[in-house]
Amino acid sequence: LASYMPIRFYDQNAVLGWFYDISELRNFTTQLAHREKEFRRLIEYLPYGILIHQEGKVCLANQKAVQQFNAASAQELLQLPVLDLVHPDYRDVVRERAAATIEKGTSNPLIEEKLLCRDGTPFDAEVANLAVTFNGRPGSLVVFNDITERKRVDAQLRINANVFNTSLDGILITDHQNNILDVNPSFTVITGYSRDEVLGHTPNFLKSGKQDEQFYQNLWTTLQEKGNWRGELWNRKKSGEIYAELLSISLIRDAQGQVLHHVGVFTDITNFKNHEKELERIAHYDPLTGLPNRVLLADRMQQTLALSSRSQRLLVIGYLDLDGFKQINDSLGHEIGDQVLIEMAQRMKNVLREGDTVARLGGDEFVLLLTGYRDAQESLATLQRLLAQLALPVTLNDTPPVILSASLGLTVYPLDHSDPDTLLRHADQAMYSAKQSGKNQIQIYDPEMDALLRLQQEFRKRFQHALESEELFLLYQPKVDLPDGQLLGVEALIRWHHPERGVLSPQEFLPQISQTHLDSQVGEWVIAQVFTQLDQWQAQGREIPISINVSPHHLERPNFIHHLTNQVLAHPIVPPRLLNLEILETLSLDNIQEVGEIIRSCRDLGIGVALDDFGTGYSSLAYLRQLPVDELKIDQSFVRDMVSSATDRAIIQSILSLASAFGCRTVAEGIENISQYRLLLELGCQAGQGHHIAYPMSADELIHWKPTFSRPDRETGSPPTS
Ligand code: C2E
Ligand code: MG
Ligand code: MG
Repeated sequence: LASYMPIRFYDQNAVLGWFYDISELRNFTTQLAHREKEFRRLIEYLPYGILIHQEGKVCLANQKAVQQFNAASAQELLQLPVLDLVHPDYRDVVRERAAATIEKGTSNPLIEEKLLCRDGTPFDAEVANLAVTFNGRPGSLVVFNDITERKRVDAQLRINANVFNTSLDGILITDHQNNILDVNPSFTVITGYSRDEVLGHTPNFLKSGKQDEQFYQNLWTTLQEKGNWRGELWNRKKSGEIYAELLSISLIRDAQGQVLHHVGVFTDITNFKNHEKELERIAHYDPLTGLPNRVLLADRMQQTLALSSRSQRLLVIGYLDLDGFKQINDSLGHEIGDQVLIEMAQRMKNVLREGDTVARLGGDEFVLLLTGYRDAQESLATLQRLLAQLALPVTLNDTPPVILSASLGLTVYPLDHSDPDTLLRHADQAMYSAKQSGKNQIQIYDPEMDALLRLQQEFRKRFQHALESEELFLLYQPKVDLPDGQLLGVEALIRWHHPERGVLSPQEFLPQISQTHLDSQVGEWVIAQVFTQLDQWQAQGREIPISINVSPHHLERPNFIHHLTNQVLAHPIVPPRLLNLEILETLSLDNIQEVGEIIRSCRDLGIGVALDDFGTGYSSLAYLRQLPVDELKIDQSFVRDMVSSATDRAIIQSILSLASAFGCRTVAEGIENISQYRLLLELGCQAGQGHHIAYPMSADELIHWKPTFSRPDRETGSPPTS
């Protein structure tokens, strides 16, 4: 460095010059400038945002800061009040920290602040300040880092940890080799294993052995292919107890697709499973006997039919009904009845083979499916044995041994190549015929019988229609006092006015509906009809007793007396004594006690009861004693031949003396001529009816009917005088 100045030197103008060697200084400044440049570069490229501000204004901003504040360039930030870049909530803090930094020349530790982008969007940042000298003046250098993403992840992790810890589902996380890394508290609650016990182990210790290797192989294959697996499996708790779980496993892979973890989430569904099993049981099994019910039977039939077609073996379908079970139930009570059913079910199961089915349809009806036989005879041997077993006495606590038998109907597929419903119906029909041929036996389905039953079905439908469309009507046949010929009452006799076939007599339709609901429906119709008639006559001042015929089926209906009582109450002007019931002698013997009760109830109501067709049954003296009837109707078969047959006469005679012994009236049926009339009169029979006296007639005719028939004492045919 040189300096010159003019001087006078020895009175002459001269120049004075100084010289300094500044080489070192020169070096130093170049170095300094170089270092500053490097420093600036370093700042420029640091992955943190850096600002320097002096007197509240930004005087330096690096690239990262420009980017973070979403500014166009550093230029945009320079000279900006630094507080413009800070969220209002944090401005005081920032102001204080900056002041402290600059005044004391110290640095400030990291804090979290909210900063503002140029467009006003806030972001979370971690910020440090330190004191610097910039351009020779003190300033504050701010280093910051956007932590928005980190905070989001933190929050997410906190939630995840919470879920992991509080979830009621068990969760386990394993590494790529399936070693357990972590389990949650619910895992411990469900399995009984603590976290420490299981860390580092594979979850194999949970296996129950209920799934085979194939199951697990499928599981792993699906997991590899789809990245997840979901299903149910049985595992074992630490206590040894087996439980069902619903498990879903997912794979967690890294960016390169390498498996890092497996995450398993599971719920204990044992209760649910048990419940499911219970529901399944209720839906498919009979609760009393534990046998398959109708629903499961339908399933089994489908299966066994398919099997039978494939294997070319027979399927034997049996319909079994216990004989006399109703009486057991009625006389000994339902509890005993139930126990008998359980015992019978067990016996059937014992006789049948493993693959066979015995199902309970309800009540005392069962269905058997026997598979695998080549010929039907073979199966018969088994079934005979079954019937023999069922016929053995059943010994229950506190009751005398109960003896029952069973009637069994069979049909054989594919000889009977029908659908399941029809097969069952056929077996049922065969069972019915087993009952009719005397019970405790096996009958095989007969197609001819089927055709007959079909006709019967159609007939019943037609008859139902007749009942609804008032094609039925009643005729009344007078019953007279034999000695004086006076009208004692009438017997109501049903007729069907068939639109095509004309007027049909009861024998042409009653037998076809006997034992069906139509039977009692007709009975109710007759009773109602007769009460209406009595009402009418009563209103006209006529009191004519009417006898009606009551079918066995109708009489034995549990609500018979109830209905009858209702009718009596519904017709208060009709004295009940005007109604008489005729019941068949043959019926009353089967069920002597029950019928005795019903007769007594009728008499309590004031209604008389007669035994119809008397002499055709086998009433003994002992039986008659139990049936408090008012009247015996001597069957017309005896009357028909009494004139020529001494035997029939003798029978009538003994009926008459029997009646007088029991104090009941006698009515002779079917008096067709005067000889019969005379003979009956001589024998002391009090009353009679028959064509000789009058044919059955309509109510209108009856009201005008006069007893003009000829009588033995006055064979002229003039009307008797009263
Ligand atoms: P039942 O109760 O023994 O009735 C007497 C039957 O003998 C009647 O036949 C009657 O018409 C007929 N009859 C009357 N007098 C003579 C005669 O001198 N000679 C001959 N050969 N027959 C005579 P019907 O009306 O055909 O009834 C037949 C049976 O049908 C009745 O026999 C009765 O058991 C039953 N029945 C009639 N109406 C009803 C009814 O409303 N309900 C029920 N459940 N059964 C009825
Ligand atoms: Mg009768
Ligand atoms: Mg009769």
